[in-house]
Amino acid sequence: MNVLIVYAHPEPTSFNGAMRDLAVESLTAQGNSIEVSDLYAMGWNPVAGPGDIDGPHSLATRFSLAREQTVAMENGTIAADIAAEQAKLTRADLVILQFPVWWFSMPAILKGWADRVFARGFAYLPGRKYDTGMFKGKRALVVATTGTSADTYAPDGIDGDILTVLWPIHNGLLRYTGFDVLPPYLAYMPAREDDETRAKQLADYRQRLETIAETPHLFFHPAEDYGANERLKPGVLARSGQQRNV
Ligand code: FAD
Repeated sequence: MNVLIVYAHPEPTSFNGAMRDLAVESLTAQGNSIEVSDLYAMGWNPVAGPGDIDGPHSLATRFSLAREQTVAMENGTIAADIAAEQAKLTRADLVILQFPVWWFSMPAILKGWADRVFARGFAYLPGRKYDTGMFKGKRALVVATTGTSADTYAPDGIDGDILTVLWPIHNGLLRYTGFDVLPPYLAYMPAREDDETRAKQLADYRQRLETIAETPHLFFHPAEDYGANERLKPGVLARSGQQRNV
């Protein structure tokens, strides 16, 4: 399969860098084809805006990012750096987002990659979301490191359930656009662990990668569970990451 690793860490010798290198080595050894978008090394521009369109805009009077993205996707005038990332996404069967958790989210450079690359007309359109999303058939995996322990990210932990923290990425970005989302791999507080624990974190990640084909994806409610108002139908027990019956 084709794998795209989108890697967002400024330091190549970081633990994230070690995880990226391990993934390239392990997935290549399994016979996969790997592409890496190393966002800091690429000098990726994370700021979405008028420069995302090559040439004149379709509306002269005001700038609408979603509208201009849609027209640019139709006309082939999306900026070249975005088009190159979109081509990688189109080729990929599996997308891995590799990053340190910064302020309960992904680093801005990766958020900006999503803002610009997941353009309207490429990643979503009316009627093309969730079960009918543009990336249906592809899988995605979040691989992240934290500054605090697994306990702090337990459902009753002080930082809150890690699946809640990751819901905007899992549901809002990946599932929304049609991906099947695999359970995340978290390496908790590598900077505060000893060498032995860090070695185990890397070994566990290797194991995850070696069993990725058999790994069930996370549950998200299918379209038929929702009523016309896009709320769960009465009687459907909410059981995805962040939804609850009210
Ligand atoms: P590093 O510090 O680069 O590495 C950790 C250790 O691993 C180092 O000792 C390194 O030498 C060692 N190492 C490197 N390669 C290997 C290898 N091959 N084998 C063994 N050891 C190796 N944390 C949270 O939990 N929640 C937050 O909201 C949050 N917000 C943050 C916001 C900002 C702006 C910043 C800067 C940090 C934040 N943090 C937060 C902490 C952050 O998530 C962690 O610092 C980060 O995830 C640690 O990963 P790293 O790759 O940067 O580790």
